Parts: sequence; structure tokens; C-alpha cells
Amino acid sequence: MATQLHKPYVTPYAEETLDLPLAFERAAGSLQLTYRDALPQERMFGALWARCGIAREGKIQWHQVHTLRQRRCMLKRLCRVCGEPATDPDTGRISWILPSESADGLRPARSTAHPPTCRAHLGEALATCPHLRRETPVVCTVGDSSPIGVLANLYGEDNDGRLVETSHQVPIGLDEFHLLSRALATQLIVRIEDLRPELPPVG
Ligand SMILES: [Zn+2]
Repeated sequence: MATQLHKPYVTPYAEETLDLPLAFERAAGSLQLTYRDALPQERMFGALWARCGIAREGKIQWHQVHTLRQRRCMLKRLCRVCGEPATDPDTGRISWILPSESADGLRPARSTAHPPTCRAHLGEALATCPHLRRETPVVCTVGDSSPIGVLANLYGEDNDGRLVETSHQVPIGLDEFHLLSRALATQLIVRIEDLRPELPPVG
């Protein structure tokens, strides 16, 4: 019997796309990216974060990532598929599918923007997630993780003073303050600690 597939927690819907009224403001003598109507909670880790809706209904955008739900998954170690905790209550370890830095899958990445996956959804995530399938995915458990950077689009001004995107989806460290001030962050990157590759799930 075919199993009903989830609409993954971390995947956005077309109706969640919002206008981004971006602007530069001068803060402490330098330019800082903001929204014309920015709210304090739209800035975290020194960067402005992409604004998005939270309705979770409409046409699903399979190849994109929902900024707020991705960040929530990373900070609270939630499953990318169901949005529930990905930490095993018995062992305290987080189950996580990581891209490999080698074709044989023997060197899982030590930092990632991919959220964890709970044990129940390892098979579904491996079978259906286009982001994971592009790389050589390795099923691991992880003892801990901590934020180290953001994936972001960078903005500058052209000769006429108009705001323009200068870089698209580049990784920026949380200590690169000169870049964070003109970054629109879309995903949180975490460092993986105490990593153990595991046997692939059965079925
Ligand atoms: Zn799950």
C-alpha cells in the first residue's frame, strides 16, 4: 500500500511569498540593509532575514526552502519533513541526513543548511527531497550543533543609488559583520558536532 507523503515542513508554498520592501539605512556611519517597515524580530545574528508568510497552504514550491521554518528547524533541531523534534529521546542524539564532501559518502559535511530529519522520516526525505538527492546523502546521528553562518543574498547600491543584488545565495560567517550588514539571510548554517555515520534505514 502506498504511503501518503508529507508536504515537508521546511518547503514553502507559493502563497507564502511576500513583497520585500528593502532599503538601506545608515547605522553607525555605514549602510545597513533593512525593510522600510522593519520589525525588530526580522533581524537575527546581525542580518536581516527574508520575510515570508506562514499560511502553509496553496501550491507547494518543491525546490525552495521556507526561511522561517528552516531557521526554526535548525535552532530547535526539528525534522525537515514533519516539524517535530529530531532528537532521539533515548539516546539524546539528533538524526540528520548530511551531504557528503566525497562521492563515496565517507566524508559527511561538518556544516550544513539542511535541517535534521527524525528517524521516522529518514526514508521519505531520502526518496523525495530534491536538495538531498543532488548530493551524496549520508545518514548520521549528531551530538550537538551550533549556528556558524547564513546563506544570504548580498545587496549594494548602483551608480544611481538604487538598491541592487550583488551576490545570490552565498555563505557568510556570523563574524563577517561587514557582509552581514548588507545581507538578506535566507537559511541558517550550523556546525555539526560529535558526528557518527549510521546504517541507512531499511525500506
Ligand atoms: Zn519527521
